Amino acid sequence: MLLKNRVSIVTAASRGIGAGVASVLAREGSNLVIAARSIGRLEELAKNLENQYGVSVVPVQADLTIREDIKKIVNTAIQNFGKVDILVYNTGPPKPGAFLELTEEDWDYGVRLLLMSAVWITRDVLPYMIERGWGRLIYITSSTLKQPIPTLTLSNVIRISLAGLIKTLAYQYGRYNILVNGIMQGYIDTERVREVAMARAQREGRRVEEILGELEKEIPLGRIGKPEEIGELVAFLASEKANYITGSLILIDGGRTLCI
Ligand code: NAD
Repeated sequence: MLLKNRVSIVTAASRGIGAGVASVLAREGSNLVIAARSIGRLEELAKNLENQYGVSVVPVQADLTIREDIKKIVNTAIQNFGKVDILVYNTGPPKPGAFLELTEEDWDYGVRLLLMSAVWITRDVLPYMIERGWGRLIYITSSTLKQPIPTLTLSNVIRISLAGLIKTLAYQYGRYNILVNGIMQGYIDTERVREVAMARAQREGRRVEEILGELEKEIPLGRIGKPEEIGELVAFLASEKANYITGSLILIDGGRTLCI
């Protein structure tokens, strides 16, 4: 097991990529604090992971756009386990839309959801990692960092700041043995991707399989990724096997992004 007796926080973990990451970390022996807005789904996931892998999993209801909720996530980890070794920051998807379709409130909320939540949780967790001289900060971002998607204005603009955060933290805290990396995933098979495909199918009077098939054709490996495949990369980066990797932004997209 790569992460035996480690303590990890995974945010936005009630479904999709976050839940997939939490499952792989639990399989690798890490105890977990999992956070999201819907406590019911989190409790169910926690119970399943505990039964399946024999680790401790504590669910926390938290909205990442609310500062006090983020404090609650880190406090829960410290109260239950006395330390945090690994932070996997993931967040909810931002509102799609072209520039003039977005209101000023959308921008405000988007910045809190995609950027300030990362800043806040990093501020809360970092002192504990510095104290122990060991830490892994892993930020789930998007392949839009490398290649913007025309209709995802908020994602294209705000997530770029996370790249700056990752590079800066890696530089400033490397001497405390805190490694900081980002993951830029392409299409991953989650409920959200299916919901978006379903909405488009309804709008265009087509079948959802047709829409998903078109996405798959854009991907050299011929398929959409699985949440657990993001989890495998996170587990590797969080483990001692990745001791010399920091300040990296790693693309995982089945080869879809063509720019270097
Ligand atoms: P999803 O909708 O399936 O899951 C999102 C998770 O975020 C859920 O657990 C939800 O409860 C949680 N969440 C949403 N808003 C929250 C908030 N304010 N506070 C706390 N938790 C919140 O989404 P997903 O497909 O797993 O995507 C996860 C992230 O990765 C998103 O930011 C998405 O934009 C990004 N992304 C996804 C893909 C993909 O193909 N799935 C590709 C690139 C980037």
